[in-house]
Amino acid sequence: MEHRFATRAVHAGRSDFSGLGVHAPPIDLSSTYPTPDLDAAARSFDSLVAGDAPIQGSFVYQRLFNPTTDRFEKALAELEGAEDAAAFASGMAAFSAVLLAAKSRGAHVVAVRPMYGTADHLLTSGLLGMEVTWTTQDEIAAALRPDTALVVVETPANPTLALIDIASVVKQAGKVPVLVDSTFATPVLQRPLTHGAALVLHSATKFLGGHGDVLAGVVAGSHALVREIKYVRAATGGLLHPLSSYLLHRGLPTLELRVERAQATAVVLAERLAEDARIATVRFPGLPGQDPRALIGRQMHGPGSVFSFELADADPLVLREFLGALALITPAVSLGSTDTLIQPPATLTHRVVAAESRAEAGITSGLLRVSVGLEDVRDLWHDLDQALAVVPSHHGERSAGLVALSV
Ligand SMILES: *Cc1c(COP(=O)(O)O)cnc(C)c1O
Repeated sequence: MEHRFATRAVHAGRSDFSGLGVHAPPIDLSSTYPTPDLDAAARSFDSLVAGDAPIQGSFVYQRLFNPTTDRFEKALAELEGAEDAAAFASGMAAFSAVLLAAKSRGAHVVAVRPMYGTADHLLTSGLLGMEVTWTTQDEIAAALRPDTALVVVETPANPTLALIDIASVVKQAGKVPVLVDSTFATPVLQRPLTHGAALVLHSATKFLGGHGDVLAGVVAGSHALVREIKYVRAATGGLLHPLSSYLLHRGLPTLELRVERAQATAVVLAERLAEDARIATVRFPGLPGQDPRALIGRQMHGPGSVFSFELADADPLVLREFLGALALITPAVSLGSTDTLIQPPATLTHRVVAAESRAEAGITSGLLRVSVGLEDVRDLWHDLDQALAVVPSHHGERSAGLVALSV
């Protein structure tokens, strides 16, 4: 019988440990490797440059292969139900390599907004020589061209938490491979390959790292597609550093615990905020009416632990005062860490997206994105509640503090 997720998360990528006589993954920091057998090293070099495995245990050079990183990749591939995975020095490095690999099949990408601001910017800018058509999840088929090499979606989407029906997108895309950025979901809540996606990408900086101390990206899929991506990685660089790979591998056994705990807290906070007169809107797929395609249950195991909201008062000064009044929750970009973070996407993460495109995607200037951490829910609610004291409610008067600020 195949083991359940939590069991696999504990044991994945560790099958060689007893043979090695170790209990924790060895960290191999070598930038180069001795090549006593020149012919074997040359064969291995060819294999690694092509994106294949090392030959006769000859790793040659760290940009081509690192065993600590390879172990993390195998573990992540197993958790995503993928044949292979490739780890990078950041989520954007992983996305860049995916685009460069796809370019050999055509220079056109179809994508759905919103998505992570810098991913949007990379596609829109044409920096890598790819042209993008932005569309909706129901109009993918109409946006395809003969030179479309990739369809890119992000679900749940950053920062509006809009959900995309992966199976429907895959069906519309036909032969064109679909890449799903599943950063917000993690393999605990969603495995895009089981819904037909060709590739799944994570900013491992977020939940996979989980402790706010690793910058990393990883992409998983079939042997053939990951081989193309490793080919690009060997040529352009961007392999994940082995210390970071070690930290990511170390975090996998606790991933499910962390994701489920943060999610349970997020459900409570989102529900309370949704009922609060000082709040205009809350966007969270776990709230009634916010999962119109009924994807939770069918595609996702739960709504996750990121939500966004708008204050009842849209005055930018009120937003700044509210952020300043938070004592426990840290105003900062990024997400998926042990601590709760908050940031206004239009001003920070999504400022690289044109204002009209942001507005179309629902990223208003007053939107605040919260990534719920592992603190006690009572302390988090207390912090939000006391900071919201600066916000006048729909019905109420402006607080004394705000009146003082606006005179
Ligand atoms: C952060 C993020 C990225 C980019 O990852 P980096 O590790 O910062 O390069 C991509 N997609 C999503 C959804 C993200 O949140």
